Amino acid sequence: MNDAVNIPFDNTYLRVASTLFANQLPTPVKQPGLIRINSALAEMLYINPKQLESEEGVAVLAGNKIPQGAEPIATAYAGHQFGGFNPRLGDGRAILLGEVIGQDGHRYDLQLKGSGITPYSRNGDGRSPLGPVLREYILSEFMAALGVRTTRSLAAVTTGETVIREQALPGAVLTRVARSHIRVGTFQYFAARDDLESLTKLADHVIARHYPEAAQANNPYLSMLAQVIQAQAELIAHWQSIGFIHGVMNTDNMLISGETVDYGPCAFMENYHPSTVFSSIDHQGRYAYSNQPAIGHWNLACLAQALLPLVDKDEAAAIPLIQPILDAYGDQYSAAYQQRMCAKLGIAQANHETDELITDLLVLMAKHSVDFTLGFRVLADWLDWDGNAESAKAINSAGLYPLPAEFQPWVLRWQQLLDAGQGKHTTDIGIAMLANNPVFIARNHQVEQAIQAGNVGDFAPFHKLVDVLAKPFEFDAGNKGYADPAMAEQRVTQTFC
Ligand code: AMP
Ligand code: MG
Ligand code: MG
Repeated sequence: MNDAVNIPFDNTYLRVASTLFANQLPTPVKQPGLIRINSALAEMLYINPKQLESEEGVAVLAGNKIPQGAEPIATAYAGHQFGGFNPRLGDGRAILLGEVIGQDGHRYDLQLKGSGITPYSRNGDGRSPLGPVLREYILSEFMAALGVRTTRSLAAVTTGETVIREQALPGAVLTRVARSHIRVGTFQYFAARDDLESLTKLADHVIARHYPEAAQANNPYLSMLAQVIQAQAELIAHWQSIGFIHGVMNTDNMLISGETVDYGPCAFMENYHPSTVFSSIDHQGRYAYSNQPAIGHWNLACLAQALLPLVDKDEAAAIPLIQPILDAYGDQYSAAYQQRMCAKLGIAQANHETDELITDLLVLMAKHSVDFTLGFRVLADWLDWDGNAESAKAINSAGLYPLPAEFQPWVLRWQQLLDAGQGKHTTDIGIAMLANNPVFIARNHQVEQAIQAGNVGDFAPFHKLVDVLAKPFEFDAGNKGYADPAMAEQRVTQTFC
C-alpha cells in the first residue's frame, strides 16, 4: 500500500506579499508519536485520516517530513499584549504548512504549533509542552461541538523530546486548522511600519477570502471593518452565554475571520461570578469574564486605527467614517447577547422585561455561587414536560444539580413570562432549552486530570474527555461524572499558558 500523505494544498497567503512572512521549515523532533487524529475533520478537508495515522503521516504532523505541496512559513504580526504594543511578534512556535479547500468550500490553514524556532521566536524555544497541546485539542473541539466559531484541532502528536518550563515536560505538536490565522495584530504590524502597500494587499486578501461582499461596497475597507466588528460582537456574545473565559485577549489573539483562537490559559467558568479570572498571568483581571465584551471593543478600535490609511488617504477624513462603525459594536453585542441568553431560557423574543429577568438571574447565581452550566441546564427541569416526550428523558437532571430554594420566586416570574407570551407548547420550549444549554462542559479539573495522565503517557482520560465533550447537549447517565462540578479538593483556580 502506498502510504504517502496526500494533502490537496492550494496556498495563497505566501503569494500576497513577501513582507507577510518568513520561509521557515519545521525543526524535526526526536521521536514522533501519535496521540489522536480528528478523522471527521480530516475527511472534511479531503485528507485521508488513515494516511495521517501512518508512520509517514505522524512524521508530517511532527514536522519531520514535508508533504508534497506544502510551503512552510512563519507569519508576521504585531499586537497589544495586556494593553502594551509589541510591534513584532509573529509565529514564534508555529508554522503554516499551507492551505486546503474543505468540503464546505471554505479555505483552511493547516498549521503546526510547537514545531520549532522561527525568525519571530525572540527568546522562546519554539516548542510546546504536551499539556497546552492537549488543552487546546480538548477545548477547541469542545467549542466546535457547542457551535462556537473556532479554530479546530486536526491532530496531536508527541515529540519524544523534553521541553523545559518551570519543570521538564514532555513535548508535543498540535495541528491547528483555521479559516485563516490573520489577526488584528497582522494589520497592526504593517500599520506600525507605515507599509501601506503590504497593508493594502493584506486587506484585499482578507476581503477576497473572508468578506467577499465587501468588494462591492463603496468603501470596501470600511465594509470589511464593519463585518469583522459584527463577527466579533457575535463571537464574544456566544462566549459570554456559555461562560467561556479566553484569558488572553491580546490583539494578536483576535482573528479577522471571527473564530476563537489561542487556547492558552482559557477556561470555562464554574461557579458564576462576573469577575472570574483563571489565567495565572492576568494579575489585574483585565481579561476577566465580564470584561471580555469591552476588551473586544478595545481590540477592534486597534484594528480600526490600523485601517485608517486604507479607509481614506487623508486619515483625518477617515475618522468620522470609522467612528459610527466602531460605535455600532455595543448594540450588535447586546443584541447577540440577549438573543443567546433568551434562547437559554426558552424565550422567543427579547425585550425590556426579559433583560431584567436575565440580570436578576445572574445576580442570584452570583449570590449563591451557582454553577453557570448546570444552573441553566436544570431550569428545563422546572418546566411542565409532556411525559411522553422522547427528549424529556434526556434532561434527567433530577438530583444532577438542585438549585437553591431562593430561586423559587425568580422561577415563578420566568414561568409566568413563558406562559404569557410564547404560545408555544412547554415541551417544545424544554427541547429548545436543552439544545441551548450544554450539560457537559470542559471542566477544569477534568482537563487537568487528562493532562496529568498524558504527562505520564496515559492518554485514555484525554480520549474519553474529548469523546464525552463531542455531544455536550445530550445527557448520558453513564457519563454523569463528567457533568458534575469539581469537588472542593479537585477545584482548579488557575490556568497557565
Ligand atoms: P501566545 O501567548 O501563544 O499568543 O504567544 C505570544 C507570542 O509569543 C506569539 O508570537 C508566539 O509565537 C510567541 N511564543 C509563545 N511561546 C513561544 C515559544 N515557546 N517559543 C517561541 N515563541 C513563542
Ligand atoms: Mg497567540
Ligand atoms: Mg498562547
